[in-house]
Amino acid sequence: MMGPTRSRVGLIGWPVEHSLSPAMHNAAFAELGLDWCYDLLPTPENAVATQLERVRRGYQGANVTVPHKLSVIQHLDRVDQAAQAIGAVNTISVQSGELVGYNTDAPGFMAALAAAGFAAAGRQALILGAGGAACAVATALAQAGCAVTIHNRRPQQAVVLARRLGPQADGLPPGARLDDVQPSRFDLLVNATPVGMWPAIDACPWPDDLPLAAHWTVYDLIYNPTRTRLLARAEDVGATTIGGLEMLIHQGALAFTLWTGRPAPVETMRAAATMALQANAR
Ligand code: NAP
Repeated sequence: MMGPTRSRVGLIGWPVEHSLSPAMHNAAFAELGLDWCYDLLPTPENAVATQLERVRRGYQGANVTVPHKLSVIQHLDRVDQAAQAIGAVNTISVQSGELVGYNTDAPGFMAALAAAGFAAAGRQALILGAGGAACAVATALAQAGCAVTIHNRRPQQAVVLARRLGPQADGLPPGARLDDVQPSRFDLLVNATPVGMWPAIDACPWPDDLPLAAHWTVYDLIYNPTRTRLLARAEDVGATTIGGLEMLIHQGALAFTLWTGRPAPVETMRAAATMALQANAR
């Protein structure tokens, strides 16, 4: 039964039907005995401004997902400095009637990396992709003192992102192949493309004829499937692997704390997200 004082948050994106976030957050609210609810707010491109006004009037906050993480910024009253540096917002908090934007993808990515025992300072990362997620990941790594090389299908996007990040980053220019960059010099490989995501699970963003290195940590941002073909190949050569579910859980936990002011019950969120993922797969 919905009470008059129930607080609400939601997910702005298009499409949003398969999101794990409602299950993850509603389980966390229940665990802490909070009368809060996480709604899906399906929002086509031309309805973002209207949806945000609805959030301002009736919600404590929202998550923002594909394809609105960049375009939403123009509609917010304030954007925190870290999100400004990344150029993307995935979490909104309503504070005294103002819409304030944050990015919890970047610290969520770093939290999962640290949990896997990878210290980023002084290391070298190769990032596949130059979209919103790559931008968050590359910014967080560069800020942590990790050198970053970006490879993208449209090479110009990689060059643009690298320029924004400064001297610690470079983007592979048009015509450059992955085997031209001496992959062995890297410590961390990040897949920030959707290649390998359900239902095209046989695809792999790393060339079949190029070996993966045993000393790498291979981090795939995809969480469906939890074990992508890239991660399976990495496991086969003895590399350390991290799947995207951990980033999803950590970014969600950070958003939860921004909204409620309470530490997030991470284990509950992990169990709920895993269960929802299994249910989606059925
Ligand atoms: P995005 O902004 O649309 O960017 C997609 C990137 O992937 C672009 O660089 C694009 O290259 C590249 N790409 C797309 N299709 C490709 C293909 N067939 N071959 C090679 N490259 C391709 O998307 P995003 O928000 O960055 O998300 C990227 C991935 O990260 C998705 O799988 C998403 O689910 C995942 N993600 C996970 C989390 C998490 O919490 N685990 C959070 C955010 C995102 P072009 O520039 O050439 O188009």
